[in-house]
Amino acid sequence: MMSVAAVRLEALSKRYGTVAAVDGVSLAVEAGECLALLGHNGAGKTTLFKLMLGLTRPTGGRLSVLDEDPGARAAVRVRRQIGFLPENVSFHDAMTGRELLRYYARLKDAPRGECERLLERVGLVQAAGGRIKTYSKGMRQRLGLAQALLGAPRLMLLDEPTTGLDPTLRDSFYALIREMTAAGTTVVLSSHALTELEARTDRVAIMKQGRLNVCGTLAELRRAASLPVRFRLTVPVDDGKRLAQRIGAGVNLARVNDHAIELTCPPAEKMAVLREIVTSGVAVEDIDIQPPSLDAVYAHFRNGEGPS
Ligand code: ATP
Repeated sequence: MMSVAAVRLEALSKRYGTVAAVDGVSLAVEAGECLALLGHNGAGKTTLFKLMLGLTRPTGGRLSVLDEDPGARAAVRVRRQIGFLPENVSFHDAMTGRELLRYYARLKDAPRGECERLLERVGLVQAAGGRIKTYSKGMRQRLGLAQALLGAPRLMLLDEPTTGLDPTLRDSFYALIREMTAAGTTVVLSSHALTELEARTDRVAIMKQGRLNVCGTLAELRRAASLPVRFRLTVPVDDGKRLAQRIGAGVNLARVNDHAIELTCPPAEKMAVLREIVTSGVAVEDIDIQPPSLDAVYAHFRNGEGPS
Protein backbone atom coordinates (compact mmCIF):
# COMPACT_ATOMS: atom_id res chain seq x y z
CA MET A 1 0.00 0.00 0.00
CA MET A 2 1.26 3.47 -0.78
CA SER A 3 1.93 5.46 2.37
CA VAL A 4 -0.12 8.59 2.75
CA ALA A 5 1.44 11.84 3.95
CA ALA A 6 -0.55 13.33 6.82
CA VAL A 7 1.23 16.64 6.37
CA ARG A 8 2.82 17.89 3.18
CA LEU A 9 4.65 21.21 2.97
CA GLU A 10 5.94 22.45 -0.37
CA ALA A 11 8.30 25.44 -0.39
CA LEU A 12 6.14 26.86 2.37
CA SER A 13 6.84 30.43 3.47
CA LYS A 14 5.35 32.91 5.89
CA ARG A 15 6.64 36.45 6.03
CA TYR A 16 5.76 39.07 8.62
CA GLY A 17 6.96 42.30 7.01
CA THR A 18 10.67 41.79 6.50
CA VAL A 19 10.87 38.73 8.78
CA ALA A 20 10.73 35.33 7.08
CA ALA A 21 9.27 33.32 9.98
CA VAL A 22 9.05 30.25 7.72
CA ASP A 23 11.24 30.29 4.65
CA GLY A 24 10.75 27.75 1.84
CA VAL A 25 10.15 24.66 3.95
CA SER A 26 9.43 21.38 2.13
CA LEU A 27 8.59 18.36 4.23
CA ALA A 28 6.25 15.38 4.31
CA VAL A 29 5.15 13.63 7.51
CA GLU A 30 3.78 10.14 7.00
CA ALA A 31 0.66 8.89 8.73
CA GLY A 32 1.57 7.33 12.10
CA GLU A 33 4.97 9.01 12.16
CA CYS A 34 6.36 11.08 15.04
CA LEU A 35 8.41 14.02 13.82
CA ALA A 36 10.24 16.44 16.10
CA LEU A 37 10.80 20.03 15.01
CA LEU A 38 13.90 21.45 16.58
CA GLY A 39 15.25 24.96 16.66
CA HIS A 40 16.18 27.79 18.97
CA ASN A 41 13.78 30.59 19.86
CA GLY A 42 12.47 32.29 16.76
CA ALA A 43 13.39 29.43 14.39
CA GLY A 44 9.80 29.33 13.10
CA LYS A 45 8.37 26.28 14.85
CA THR A 46 5.26 27.97 16.26
CA THR A 47 4.58 29.67 12.94
CA LEU A 48 4.74 26.28 11.24
CA PHE A 49 2.16 24.96 13.71
CA LYS A 50 -0.11 27.94 13.06
CA LEU A 51 0.10 27.29 9.32
CA MET A 52 -0.74 23.59 9.82
CA LEU A 53 -3.68 24.57 12.03
CA GLY A 54 -5.00 26.96 9.39
CA LEU A 55 -4.72 29.86 11.86
CA THR A 56 -2.53 31.82 9.50
CA ARG A 57 -2.12 31.73 5.72
CA PRO A 58 1.18 31.16 3.91
CA THR A 59 2.72 33.98 1.92
CA GLY A 60 4.37 31.44 -0.39
CA GLY A 61 4.29 27.76 -1.28
CA ARG A 62 1.60 25.22 -0.41
CA LEU A 63 0.58 22.88 2.34
CA SER A 64 -1.89 20.09 2.84
CA VAL A 65 -2.94 18.54 6.13
CA LEU A 66 -4.86 15.25 6.09
CA ASP A 67 -5.23 15.83 2.36
CA GLU A 68 -6.78 19.27 2.60
CA ASP A 69 -5.71 22.89 2.81
CA PRO A 70 -6.18 23.59 6.54
CA GLY A 71 -6.83 27.30 5.93
CA ALA A 72 -9.68 26.72 3.48
CA ARG A 73 -13.16 27.63 4.70
CA ALA A 74 -14.39 24.11 4.06
CA ALA A 75 -11.61 22.54 6.13
CA VAL A 76 -13.60 22.48 9.41
CA ARG A 77 -13.71 18.70 9.27
CA VAL A 78 -9.91 18.53 9.00
CA ARG A 79 -9.39 21.05 11.78
CA ARG A 80 -11.54 18.88 14.06
CA GLN A 81 -9.18 15.98 13.44
CA ILE A 82 -6.20 17.93 14.72
CA GLY A 83 -5.29 17.98 18.41
CA PHE A 84 -3.18 20.97 19.45
CA LEU A 85 -1.18 21.68 22.58
CA PRO A 86 0.00 25.30 22.51
CA GLU A 87 3.37 26.37 23.85
CA ASN A 88 2.02 28.21 26.88
CA VAL A 89 -1.05 26.43 28.13
CA SER A 90 -3.19 28.94 29.98
CA PHE A 91 -6.40 27.56 31.38
CA HIS A 92 -9.10 29.12 33.47
CA ASP A 93 -7.53 28.78 36.91
CA ALA A 94 -10.81 28.68 38.84
CA MET A 95 -12.06 25.60 36.96
CA THR A 96 -11.21 22.08 38.00
CA GLY A 97 -9.29 19.86 35.61
CA ARG A 98 -12.39 17.75 35.01
CA GLU A 99 -14.60 20.80 34.33
CA LEU A 100 -12.11 22.15 31.86
CA LEU A 101 -11.83 18.89 29.98
CA ARG A 102 -15.62 18.53 29.80
CA TYR A 103 -15.85 22.08 28.50
CA TYR A 104 -13.40 21.29 25.68
CA ALA A 105 -15.20 18.00 25.01
CA ARG A 106 -18.37 20.00 24.32
CA LEU A 107 -16.50 22.36 22.01
CA LYS A 108 -15.00 19.46 20.12
CA ASP A 109 -18.19 17.38 20.08
CA ALA A 110 -16.32 14.58 21.83
CA PRO A 111 -18.26 12.14 24.02
CA ARG A 112 -18.22 13.14 27.73
CA GLY A 113 -17.09 9.65 28.73
CA GLU A 114 -13.81 10.27 26.95
CA CYS A 115 -12.82 12.80 29.62
CA GLU A 116 -12.46 10.23 32.41
CA ARG A 117 -10.54 7.88 30.16
CA LEU A 118 -8.14 10.67 29.20
CA LEU A 119 -7.71 11.91 32.78
CA GLU A 120 -6.68 8.39 33.65
CA ARG A 121 -4.39 8.15 30.66
CA VAL A 122 -2.45 11.27 31.65
CA GLY A 123 -2.43 10.34 35.35
CA LEU A 124 -4.73 13.12 36.58
CA VAL A 125 -7.66 11.17 38.00
CA GLN A 126 -6.76 12.01 41.61
CA ALA A 127 -6.29 15.70 40.86
CA ALA A 128 -9.25 16.09 38.47
CA GLY A 129 -11.53 17.57 41.13
CA GLY A 130 -8.99 20.20 42.21
CA ARG A 131 -8.85 23.73 40.82
CA ILE A 132 -6.29 24.29 38.08
CA LYS A 133 -4.68 27.13 40.05
CA THR A 134 -3.40 24.47 42.47
CA TYR A 135 -1.79 22.43 39.66
CA SER A 136 1.95 22.21 39.11
CA LYS A 137 3.43 23.03 35.70
CA GLY A 138 3.65 19.31 34.92
CA MET A 139 -0.01 18.78 35.81
CA ARG A 140 -1.10 21.68 33.62
CA GLN A 141 0.95 20.26 30.79
CA ARG A 142 -0.72 16.85 31.20
CA LEU A 143 -4.15 18.46 31.29
CA GLY A 144 -3.22 20.24 28.07
CA LEU A 145 -2.24 16.94 26.55
CA ALA A 146 -5.57 15.36 27.58
CA GLN A 147 -7.32 18.33 25.96
CA ALA A 148 -5.35 17.81 22.75
CA LEU A 149 -6.25 14.10 22.76
CA LEU A 150 -10.00 14.75 22.91
CA GLY A 151 -11.93 13.56 19.88
CA ALA A 152 -9.34 10.93 18.87
CA PRO A 153 -7.38 13.26 16.54
CA ARG A 154 -5.59 11.87 13.49
CA LEU A 155 -2.89 14.51 13.82
CA MET A 156 -1.39 15.90 17.02
CA LEU A 157 0.56 19.17 16.98
CA LEU A 158 2.41 19.66 20.25
CA ASP A 159 4.37 22.88 20.79
CA GLU A 160 7.13 22.19 23.32
CA PRO A 161 5.05 19.61 25.19
CA THR A 162 7.76 18.43 27.57
CA THR A 163 8.74 21.83 28.98
CA GLY A 164 8.38 21.68 32.75
CA LEU A 165 8.13 17.90 32.92
CA ASP A 166 10.52 16.00 35.17
CA PRO A 167 12.33 12.98 33.66
CA THR A 168 9.70 10.48 34.86
CA LEU A 169 6.81 12.47 33.42
CA ARG A 170 8.81 12.97 30.25
CA ASP A 171 9.18 9.20 29.93
CA SER A 172 5.46 8.61 30.41
CA PHE A 173 4.73 11.41 27.95
CA TYR A 174 6.81 9.71 25.25
CA ALA A 175 5.23 6.35 26.09
CA LEU A 176 1.85 7.95 25.39
CA ILE A 177 3.14 9.32 22.09
CA ARG A 178 4.32 5.82 21.14
CA GLU A 179 0.84 4.42 21.87
CA MET A 180 -0.75 7.09 19.71
CA THR A 181 1.55 6.62 16.74
CA ALA A 182 1.16 2.82 17.00
CA ALA A 183 -2.59 3.43 16.66
CA GLY A 184 -1.97 5.45 13.48
CA THR A 185 -2.02 9.01 14.86
CA THR A 186 0.57 11.33 13.36
CA VAL A 187 2.49 13.47 15.85
CA VAL A 188 4.51 16.61 15.20
CA LEU A 189 6.12 18.08 18.28
CA SER A 190 8.61 20.85 18.86
CA SER A 191 11.49 20.86 21.26
CA HIS A 192 14.63 22.78 22.12
CA ALA A 193 16.79 19.77 22.91
CA LEU A 194 17.94 16.89 20.78
CA THR A 195 19.14 14.93 23.82
CA GLU A 196 15.63 14.24 25.09
CA LEU A 197 14.57 12.81 21.75
CA GLU A 198 16.98 9.88 21.59
CA ALA A 199 15.07 6.79 20.44
CA ARG A 200 11.79 8.59 21.00
CA THR A 201 10.89 10.08 17.64
CA ASP A 202 11.07 8.67 14.13
CA ARG A 203 12.61 11.72 12.51
CA VAL A 204 14.01 15.06 13.52
CA ALA A 205 13.79 18.29 11.51
CA ILE A 206 16.18 21.07 12.51
CA MET A 207 15.13 24.62 11.72
CA LYS A 208 17.10 27.84 11.80
CA GLN A 209 15.72 31.27 10.97
CA GLY A 210 12.70 29.88 9.19
CA ARG A 211 14.66 27.40 7.09
CA LEU A 212 14.81 23.65 7.37
CA ASN A 213 18.50 22.82 7.78
CA VAL A 214 18.17 19.06 7.86
CA CYS A 215 15.61 16.30 8.36
CA GLY A 216 16.21 12.63 9.07
CA THR A 217 16.44 9.90 11.68
CA LEU A 218 18.94 10.43 14.47
CA ALA A 219 21.15 7.74 12.91
CA GLU A 220 21.03 9.54 9.54
CA LEU A 221 21.83 12.87 11.17
CA ARG A 222 24.72 11.34 13.08
CA ARG A 223 26.11 9.83 9.90
CA ALA A 224 25.65 12.99 7.84
CA ALA A 225 27.28 15.16 10.51
CA SER A 226 30.40 12.96 10.33
CA LEU A 227 31.63 14.26 13.66
CA PRO A 228 34.68 12.64 15.26
CA VAL A 229 34.45 9.49 17.35
CA ARG A 230 36.30 9.55 20.66
CA PHE A 231 38.37 6.65 22.04
CA ARG A 232 39.51 6.41 25.65
CA LEU A 233 42.08 3.73 26.35
CA THR A 234 43.59 2.55 29.60
CA VAL A 235 46.91 0.80 29.09
CA PRO A 236 49.58 -0.67 31.37
CA VAL A 237 51.83 1.97 32.95
CA ASP A 238 54.53 3.16 30.53
CA ASP A 239 52.73 1.81 27.44
CA GLY A 240 50.74 4.96 26.68
CA LYS A 241 53.38 6.75 24.64
CA ARG A 242 54.43 3.54 22.91
CA LEU A 243 50.88 2.88 21.73
CA ALA A 244 50.40 6.50 20.69
CA GLN A 245 53.41 6.22 18.39
CA ARG A 246 52.00 3.11 16.73
CA ILE A 247 48.60 4.45 15.92
CA GLY A 248 48.73 5.83 12.44
CA ALA A 249 47.61 8.89 10.58
CA GLY A 250 44.04 10.19 10.65
CA VAL A 251 43.79 10.17 14.41
CA ASN A 252 44.02 13.14 16.68
CA LEU A 253 45.70 12.42 19.98
CA ALA A 254 43.88 14.53 22.52
CA ARG A 255 45.64 13.36 25.67
CA VAL A 256 48.45 10.97 26.33
CA ASN A 257 50.02 10.06 29.63
CA ASP A 258 51.71 6.98 31.01
CA HIS A 259 48.65 4.82 31.21
CA ALA A 260 45.83 6.56 29.34
CA ILE A 261 45.25 7.75 25.81
CA GLU A 262 42.40 9.79 24.43
CA LEU A 263 42.08 10.10 20.69
CA THR A 264 39.55 11.11 18.10
CA CYS A 265 39.15 10.04 14.49
CA PRO A 266 36.63 10.45 11.66
CA PRO A 267 33.76 7.92 11.97
CA ALA A 268 34.86 6.19 8.76
CA GLU A 269 38.25 5.42 10.35
CA LYS A 270 36.80 3.91 13.51
CA MET A 271 37.27 0.24 12.66
CA ALA A 272 40.73 0.78 11.17
CA VAL A 273 41.87 2.55 14.35
CA LEU A 274 40.39 -0.23 16.45
CA ARG A 275 42.33 -2.81 14.44
CA GLU A 276 45.56 -0.86 14.91
CA ILE A 277 44.99 -0.78 18.65
CA VAL A 278 44.27 -4.51 18.83
CA THR A 279 47.30 -5.47 16.72
CA SER A 280 49.70 -3.02 18.41
CA GLY A 281 50.96 -5.57 20.88
CA VAL A 282 49.99 -3.35 23.82
CA ALA A 283 47.75 -5.13 26.32
CA VAL A 284 44.97 -2.54 26.47
CA GLU A 285 43.19 -2.80 29.84
CA ASP A 286 40.05 -0.92 28.98
CA ILE A 287 38.51 0.90 26.04
CA ASP A 288 35.59 3.31 25.70
CA ILE A 289 34.33 4.35 22.27
CA GLN A 290 32.00 7.33 22.31
CA PRO A 291 29.97 8.49 19.31
CA PRO A 292 29.44 12.26 19.01
CA SER A 293 26.89 13.55 21.51
CA LEU A 294 23.46 14.59 20.30
CA ASP A 295 24.22 18.11 21.48
CA ALA A 296 27.21 18.16 19.13
CA VAL A 297 25.08 16.81 16.25
CA TYR A 298 22.42 19.46 16.91
CA ALA A 299 25.00 22.26 17.07
CA HIS A 300 26.51 21.03 13.80
CA PHE A 301 23.24 21.24 11.87
CA ARG A 302 21.92 24.33 13.58
CA ASN A 303 25.07 26.26 12.80
CA GLY A 304 25.86 24.86 9.40
CA GLU A 305 23.89 24.76 6.21
CA GLY A 306 23.33 21.01 6.41
CA PRO A 307 22.97 18.74 3.39
CA SER A 308 20.26 20.00 1.08
P1 ATP B 1 10.10 29.73 20.18
O1 ATP B 1 11.01 28.58 20.39
O2 ATP B 1 10.55 30.96 20.91
O3 ATP B 1 8.67 29.41 20.40
P2 ATP B 1 9.65 29.56 17.33
O4 ATP B 1 10.63 28.67 16.66
O5 ATP B 1 8.33 29.00 17.66
O6 ATP B 1 10.30 30.17 18.63
P3 ATP B 1 8.18 31.59 15.88
O7 ATP B 1 7.34 31.98 17.04
O8 ATP B 1 7.55 30.80 14.81
O9 ATP B 1 9.50 30.82 16.39
O10 ATP B 1 8.79 32.92 15.25
C1 ATP B 1 9.61 32.95 14.08
C2 ATP B 1 9.93 34.40 13.73
O11 ATP B 1 8.77 35.06 13.25
C3 ATP B 1 10.44 35.23 14.88
O12 ATP B 1 11.44 36.09 14.40
C4 ATP B 1 9.22 36.01 15.32
O13 ATP B 1 9.59 37.24 15.90
C5 ATP B 1 8.47 36.21 14.01
N1 ATP B 1 7.00 36.26 14.20
C6 ATP B 1 6.22 35.24 14.61
N2 ATP B 1 4.92 35.61 14.65
C7 ATP B 1 4.87 36.91 14.26
C8 ATP B 1 3.82 37.88 14.09
N3 ATP B 1 2.55 37.56 14.31
N4 ATP B 1 4.17 39.10 13.66
C9 ATP B 1 5.46 39.43 13.41
N5 ATP B 1 6.50 38.57 13.54
C10 ATP B 1 6.23 37.33 13.97
